[in-house]
Amino acid sequence: MSTTDEPRSVDRGGVGKQFDFHAAHFDNQANEDDQCARVHGHTYVLEVQALGHFDPARGMILHGDVLKEIYRTKVEPYVEHRNLNEVLPFNPTMENMTSWILQQYQKALRGFPAVHEVEVILWETRTMYCRMRGGAF
Ligand SMILES: [Zn+2]
Repeated sequence: MSTTDEPRSVDRGGVGKQFDFHAAHFDNQANEDDQCARVHGHTYVLEVQALGHFDPARGMILHGDVLKEIYRTKVEPYVEHRNLNEVLPFNPTMENMTSWILQQYQKALRGFPAVHEVEVILWETRTMYCRMRGGAF
């Protein structure tokens, strides 16, 4: 058996990685009767995707270890087993967290010309997430 088909350059592709972390938080702007106003914890699931041009000659958009290293140095120290309200200088809602994580990746991926955009999906529960996307430049 043989094939003559080869990988093709496409306009855009993505390479992603998934992480999880445990953290406590509360919504400091929620009404008192809203349960989100009370301190509670989540096992957050984070998905990060670097979108860019695929070069079949190299066979890679971005080495997955780069996404891992950015998480390890720019995100994890601030979130893993933390009370997010004490560590982060903003109200740690799912949307604010997603925006902040996206910003960490956008800044860190500036030196990678093949990467044009970054997408972040942050799952606060098994059924609820926030998704944001922005340019990496
Ligand atoms: Zn919560």
